[in-house]
Amino acid sequence: MAAALELAKAGLEVLIIEKNESLGGQAAAFACMATNQCQKCDACFAVQLRAEVATQPKIKVMTRYEVIEVAVNAPTVEKSDQKSSSTQYAVKMQPVMGKPGNSRASIVIFRTEVVLIASGYQPFSAEVRGEYGYGRYLRVVSSLDLEQVWRKHGNLKSTYGHLSQVAFIQCIGSRDRRTGNPYCSKVCCGYSWRMARRMQWDYPEVEINIFYMDFQGRRCDFLTDLNPRRLNDKKISLIRSIPSRAYQLPGQKVVLDWEVTESGQKAQAEFDLVVLSVGIVASDFNYKLNQQLNLPIDKGGFLLPEGNCRERRPGDLLAGVFCAGTCCGAADIWTTIIQGKSIAGQIVDYIDSNH
Ligand SMILES: Cc1cc2nc3c(=O)[nH]c(=O)nc-3n(C[C@H](O)[C@H](O)[C@H](O)COP(=O)(O)OP(=O)(O)OC[C@H]3O[C@@H](n4cnc5c(N)ncnc54)[C@H](O)[C@@H]3O)c2cc1C
Ligand code: SF4
Ligand code: SF4
Repeated sequence: MAAALELAKAGLEVLIIEKNESLGGQAAAFACMATNQCQKCDACFAVQLRAEVATQPKIKVMTRYEVIEVAVNAPTVEKSDQKSSSTQYAVKMQPVMGKPGNSRASIVIFRTEVVLIASGYQPFSAEVRGEYGYGRYLRVVSSLDLEQVWRKHGNLKSTYGHLSQVAFIQCIGSRDRRTGNPYCSKVCCGYSWRMARRMQWDYPEVEINIFYMDFQGRRCDFLTDLNPRRLNDKKISLIRSIPSRAYQLPGQKVVLDWEVTESGQKAQAEFDLVVLSVGIVASDFNYKLNQQLNLPIDKGGFLLPEGNCRERRPGDLLAGVFCAGTCCGAADIWTTIIQGKSIAGQIVDYIDSNH
């Protein structure tokens, strides 16, 4: 959306293809984390951009269409005044059907000389870390579950009841070679911290323990909260250790076991709720693009922008294919928007040099 708005302002016609009901991606489904003040989670940018896109006549939107293939279209356009030719692409999409099994609607092919891939990421599936019992224990939830409960009900009480002890476990599906994701997801320290503050705003009595190995994030204002006196005021404890497992007996609290880093001793405590802070994983669509267009991907499955668009000129292999946002690696909403705007500038330059 950020790129489309810039391109439309430059006078170009843009088509956005989106498989969901509406634009905005994951961010549009997040809850507002404001307490008595805005916590700068940036989720409302998605809604603002969507409203702007709706008023821009040069941007057409096709929702509930899923791109299934992007292919180089054989014919090239020879220019009379110069020797360059522009690569054309065929973007094949199919309607996302309301009812499973209904496959009557036909496939649509859109031909274009520029494709911007902004297909995002998949959240890490918390089930993969079986030692925490996600999916088996009702009181072990993912951060996305928490977002959804807040968004739907505006509170956590109606779903989880009284909360007095809550734990967050950081880096779930990130910084973890066992799951094939050795990188930092960059967003989960920030969002967990905002969730913890929102939780304490809603339930001043709640005590929160954040199990972590490192603190990262572009919006580092939360780091200023990490001095012991302020943390004590807020009843938030940071524990530099990652629990080895969780278990819950029917109708009882969740027990976490961990090792105290400083002493090496074993520790154990009970919690009303354990939140797994899931990270950002490359989408399956990246692997499809890697096969269909031979777009380079890194070890984590993210597209490599420097390898696939920045240096290309008209006539080069795959010239005209650009990418932005989390399909290229973990990033927060603000960084994604900035990337979108910046890539729009590169697209305008590319089109200028090609015509
Ligand atoms: C639990 C969690 C909490 C987070 N909280 C925050 C936060 O508080 N603040 C923050 O800044 N960041 C947060 N993030 C990160 C944030 O979600 C991303 O920065 C942002 O969503 C990236 O936007 P994107 O457009 O790159 O990708 P996405 O949000 O994934 O959007 C991609 C879009 O492409 C569509 N799409 C994909 N494939 C196709 C296809 N084949 N055909 C058609 N459409 C397709 C998808 O439906 C989607 O709408 C959080 C991440 C997680 C996992
Ligand atoms: S930035 Fe986040 S916390 Fe602030 S108003 Fe927007 S959605 Fe709410
Ligand atoms: S942002 Fe924080 S929680 Fe997420 S992977 Fe990086 S260090 Fe771990």
